[in-house]
Amino acid sequence: MSQLQGRSQHRGSSATIDVVTDAKGHEAAGTSRDDEAASGAAEVGTAQADLTAWWSHRHRDVSGGWLRPTVFGAVDGLVTNAALIAGVGGGGASAHSTVLTGLAGLVAGAFSMGTGEYVSVTNQNELVNAEVAVEQRMHAEFPAAEQAELAETFRGYGADADTAAKMAAAVSADPALALRVHTREELGVDPHELPSAFLAGGASLVAFSVGALLPLLPYLVGAPSLLAAMVITAVALVLGGTVVGRLTGRPPVQSAARQLILGAVAVAVTFAVGRIIGHPVS
Ligand SMILES: [Zn+2]
Repeated sequence: MSQLQGRSQHRGSSATIDVVTDAKGHEAAGTSRDDEAASGAAEVGTAQADLTAWWSHRHRDVSGGWLRPTVFGAVDGLVTNAALIAGVGGGGASAHSTVLTGLAGLVAGAFSMGTGEYVSVTNQNELVNAEVAVEQRMHAEFPAAEQAELAETFRGYGADADTAAKMAAAVSADPALALRVHTREELGVDPHELPSAFLAGGASLVAFSVGALLPLLPYLVGAPSLLAAMVITAVALVLGGTVVGRLTGRPPVQSAARQLILGAVAVAVTFAVGRIIGHPVS
């Protein structure tokens, strides 16, 4: 399902780029109509080449199943540990206690994220496989009904009854292909391109660890400074937010600002909690 969303989102943004280049091309076009036509054709060619490049890029990212958990895992690790360090730092913990807390937070969070992602993807894949099995049984028991269903799908795409019937017959002639097309149409996923749970879980675990390590760096290199930890966190949040923006199709600046603000809120709240509990008002 997410694959389809990614594709259609991308189609939308490409169309926008196309219009923009077209408008620019028009302004810059010379006096000759031939020039205009030639540059227009060249631009369409470039736009199509760009579209193809982006299309395959998107597809690989989503179906590979590791880029998303990597980026989100890293941002999670960063925010979690920055907040944790700010909390114990706000409570007046020593540098040693802060490192201990930070490393414990890193390991606990990394395993929680990694196993969570693994279980989530496994459940999702098992659900898809179970539904594919149902579809396979229906194909074996009611081939005519399934072929009619497929013809109906093709009519929904604008084919006339005769063409739709021919296409459905052609696809149904190959049982493996038929199952694949039905699954894509009915479940919105390709059973041959399910994400690897192990890869997604592993990527999450490693990414969370890397993100969580960043705010700890000043303490690990023997320069314990809460301020330095927070500056590193802020810079990393802006970078992470930019990448998240690129992944989700939001404007990167907006996404970076949002990531920074949400991270700052998490850090401020835990810092305040640390202050209140660490230095009780007597
Ligand atoms: Zn079906």
